[in-house]
Amino acid sequence: MVILENELMRAHTSFKVGGPARFFVKAEHMDDLKNALALAREKGLPHFVLGNGTNLLVSDKGYDGVIISLAGDFSEIADLGNGKFKVGAATPLGRFARHTLKQGYAGIHKLAGIPGTLGGAVYMNAGAYGQEVGNCCTGVTVLDAGGNIRELPAAECCFGYRQSIFNYCKEIPGQAGDDNGKIILAATFQLQSASSQELTVADLEAELAECMAKRKATQPLNMPNAGSTFKRLEVGAATMPTQIAPGYYIEQTGLKGYRIGGAEVSTLHANFIVNAGNATAQDIKNLSEYVQSKVAEKFGIQLQREIILLGNFEG
Ligand SMILES: Cc1cc2nc3c(=O)[nH]c(=O)nc-3n(C[C@H](O)[C@H](O)[C@H](O)COP(=O)(O)OP(=O)(O)OC[C@H]3O[C@@H](n4cnc5c(N)ncnc54)[C@H](O)[C@@H]3O)c2cc1C
Repeated sequence: MVILENELMRAHTSFKVGGPARFFVKAEHMDDLKNALALAREKGLPHFVLGNGTNLLVSDKGYDGVIISLAGDFSEIADLGNGKFKVGAATPLGRFARHTLKQGYAGIHKLAGIPGTLGGAVYMNAGAYGQEVGNCCTGVTVLDAGGNIRELPAAECCFGYRQSIFNYCKEIPGQAGDDNGKIILAATFQLQSASSQELTVADLEAELAECMAKRKATQPLNMPNAGSTFKRLEVGAATMPTQIAPGYYIEQTGLKGYRIGGAEVSTLHANFIVNAGNATAQDIKNLSEYVQSKVAEKFGIQLQREIILLGNFEG
């Protein structure tokens, strides 16, 4: 088991910001994971399970706890036949999505451009272009707060828009560190064969290529970022909700290109904040709050942060 002390989190987040983690453990086997949790208990520190850090803003002061990064045994994809797969939490979502596509299965192939892990994707119920991880997930294997391995059927995972049982009971939306302590170890999926939808593998590949081209054209992929800063807004009746992109309101508020320190509202996509060079985590947080206040002032709408904050911030 690799244990690092004072490991800078900027090396592990797509924003490329974040101070030192008191302990950073790479857990390749179940024993490593249990030992990492024991280390946290022994030191009286909290723990935090890191995926690929692509939806995460870690404080400049770092994290006074144990960061657990799953790898090794947690990165396996098992083909169980007939479109059923069991996938380890550390598996890159893109690898799994492309694996299913090549085997001729549809359902998550359009998600191949999301840069997170399977664990992060289940936690967030990641989605794009009409597909969501939760739609074809049949169950999640977790290590619960009592140290027991449990199988949660998908119905108990409460998948919703960027929500799951793993994050929705937080007291402060968008704030990490108060979740229900379940560590996602793996998840099972049931996908439909492309042929059952009268599609070929080439059709799925063409659909994915279209999604990737849209990402390239609309997202600031050449600058450090963490994807959408804010969640889409649900308007209309509960029976027929419509989602509105926050980027529309941010753009209408004239904030594209607005900067605080090294953090900038992307000039390409207003719902992305980018690290335009030497941004601090505090700059990014301050800019997200400035955007929230300006949109609230102009439209009376409260944008909800999608990006998760970890560690202590000022203000
Ligand atoms: C360029 C770019 C494009 C993006 N596009 C999309 C998109 O189209 N759709 C979308 O939904 N998101 C998108 N994102 C956001 C992000 O990639 C997703 O939210 C992704 O699912 C996060 O996964 P991660 O492994 O990076 O998680 P992290 O950012 O590391 O963590 C996110 C949360 O998940 C928790 N977590 C991670 N693994 C586990 C585990 N094993 N057990 C328990 N908790 C865990 C963490 O504790 C944390 O609270 C994008 C991000 C970027 C940078």
